[in-house]
Amino acid sequence: MTSSSLRVKGLTKRYGDFVALAPTSLDVAKGEFLTLLGPSGSGKTTLLSLIAGLAHPDEGHILVDDADVTHSPAYDRDIGVVFQNYALFPHMTVEDNIAFPLKMRKVADADLRRRTAEALETVRLPHVAKRYPRELSGGQQQRIALARCIVYRPAIILMDEPLGALDKKLRDQMQLEIKRIHRELGTTIIYVTHDQEEAMTMSDRICLMNAGAIEQLGTPEDLYFRPQSVFVADFLGESNLLSATVRQVDAQGLDIVLADQAAPSRAVGNGASFAAGEPIKLMVRPQNLHVEDAANGKLTGRLVDVMISGSMTRLYIAPERVDMPQLVAAYPTRSSAAPYEIGQLVSLDWNSADAVAIRDGRGH
Ligand code: ATP
Repeated sequence: MTSSSLRVKGLTKRYGDFVALAPTSLDVAKGEFLTLLGPSGSGKTTLLSLIAGLAHPDEGHILVDDADVTHSPAYDRDIGVVFQNYALFPHMTVEDNIAFPLKMRKVADADLRRRTAEALETVRLPHVAKRYPRELSGGQQQRIALARCIVYRPAIILMDEPLGALDKKLRDQMQLEIKRIHRELGTTIIYVTHDQEEAMTMSDRICLMNAGAIEQLGTPEDLYFRPQSVFVADFLGESNLLSATVRQVDAQGLDIVLADQAAPSRAVGNGASFAAGEPIKLMVRPQNLHVEDAANGKLTGRLVDVMISGSMTRLYIAPERVDMPQLVAAYPTRSSAAPYEIGQLVSLDWNSADAVAIRDGRGH
């Protein structure tokens, strides 16, 4: 299987006065699995359609392995697309559906049959070759749509919410299948989803989009542990965001003071530069917020609610004295743990290495 790199330079799309995609630049490495993640309307499908050649940009360039394909027709780009609604031909058998792109490319019959059988093996459905799409489950149809894409060996595969129509269990299974196929084929994949968990599990890198622009691009760990904006911290996983002010910056991190508190504490940066006196948000992930009985933590609060969702227990806490939002602490459920009482006063603490400073007011 071939694999190509993709470069997008200053790509822009407007509908009348509305900017669906602000000038956007992005490099995707050969064989990379990159996910476009973002809320509804953030421009994910617009960017994908431009790359596929299904829509035309107002400005900018698209390069596949350094060749400019901005004005090439979709079928000339060596890019395959898999959609959420499968788009299989209902009147054709599964094997005819898969063979279709090869027929269009005038591949000789013996080769066509061999490659169709191989694609069915790759998606682990060799026994459904003679069936019609209506005789398959949703998950099977999605695999056939994937087989029809990989059969002609495109150098880049684009997937637009391919698992959006499947139930949770099947989605989890198909995520693993797609990862396996990616490992086996080594093809560059650009994957669209608005599901942050799906993006975190599947991607080499995530491109988080917001209002038609890239908000942050990096590994799942980068975005989760070092969000550059409140939008990123909020969008990926749960987060506690506390108002604070920077007192001093040094090579190891920042001295900060939480709003309404006298005692300074420490935080780590997120790659951005901070200035003394600057208001920030301090992000502490729920698993890093420790709830203690003794009153020696950085904050105190009252327990508002306890939720046990299988393996995780979540404690919701209203901080005392300070005008702060409700906080959430999470830890693995233990049957032996002493029960907390609603209304109980608790102390909250965290390690400074787990407190990340985020510039306030960033994001769109
Ligand atoms: P979703 O997750 O809901 O699919 P998305 O991030 O893929 O969202 P896009 O489909 O790229 O979002 O749309 C970005 C914006 O561009 C939206 O506000 C949408 O309404 C607008 N838009 C998309 N296509 C058109 C069009 N043909 N005409 C006018 N506006 C459009």
